[in-house]
Amino acid sequence: MSPNPIRPTVPLDARGKHHGFLRLPHSRNDSAWGSVMIPITVIAGGDGPTALLTGGNHGDEYEGPIALQQLAWEIDPADVTGRILIVPYMNYPAFRVGARVSPIDQVNLNRAFPGRPDGTPTQKIAHYFDSVLLPLADIVLDYHSGGKTLDFLPYAAAHYLDDTAQQAACVAAVEAFGAPYSMMMREIDAVGMFDTAVEAQGKVFVTTELGGGGTATARSAEIAIRGGRNVLRHAGILTGAPERPERSRMLAMPDDDCFHFATVDGLMHPLVDLGEEVRAGQPIARLWSNDRTGIAPVEITANCDGLLVARHFPGLVQSGDCLAVVATE
Ligand code: CA
Repeated sequence: MSPNPIRPTVPLDARGKHHGFLRLPHSRNDSAWGSVMIPITVIAGGDGPTALLTGGNHGDEYEGPIALQQLAWEIDPADVTGRILIVPYMNYPAFRVGARVSPIDQVNLNRAFPGRPDGTPTQKIAHYFDSVLLPLADIVLDYHSGGKTLDFLPYAAAHYLDDTAQQAACVAAVEAFGAPYSMMMREIDAVGMFDTAVEAQGKVFVTTELGGGGTATARSAEIAIRGGRNVLRHAGILTGAPERPERSRMLAMPDDDCFHFATVDGLMHPLVDLGEEVRAGQPIARLWSNDRTGIAPVEITANCDGLLVARHFPGLVQSGDCLAVVATE
């Protein structure tokens, strides 16, 4: 296989703080020998572990990019033991257009792992992370939020893993993040996800869902920034102890019943808001006809008892959309 064409413009192993780019060659109509310039900051102090902090895996999720800009700006290498690799806009072309997937190749970076060095731009980005940056890391924090089509209660999350020691290390890092909620998370389909690639390499992994709707709030941005600092402190990379201003409520997604999908197109009428408790069988949303009056709505009922932790964000729903996620406390 050909080597990955992405080249960092700053050294990945030099002491101090260096701001640069991961330069991905991208020849196109408006730039024959052009590049995609993915911002990266490398902060290194004394010998110690390496953290890889990423945001913008999906380009319409903003808490991670905000937190990582803040951390890249504020962290003094004198306070660092080890190394921090910060990539706020992982799928940079998607970030620039405020979209989940890349406008260049329509590929979802978080379904493209382990990627291809000879593939499309997004596949090359995935391959670079999988083959170059991930092997350098001991701990990985990948920030997500709901993007334009989902909204979440703010939580940090670990996955159920076969390796119980690895899972325990991930859970400890999730607790250190200190979001208002901490989740044992289940994926609808984990194939091709960055998460899966990180976990397959045996790393400690924290992901998040911190909000959504294609924006951030003052509260969600603050949770993201504090959580990033806390994970670095937990890993012994940044000086100081993690701060926990609020108790994190532990949640779990024990099986596929957590997910609620639409089977018709329609106009969403929420009956329950994020953070509210629901009982199995309780109606959580109605879907009204989007083309006529006088038709009974399709009612969506909760599959299980729990807390509404995620919901479809736009008012219009398509058949197949994930409408809601209910997690157990
Ligand atoms: Ca996401």
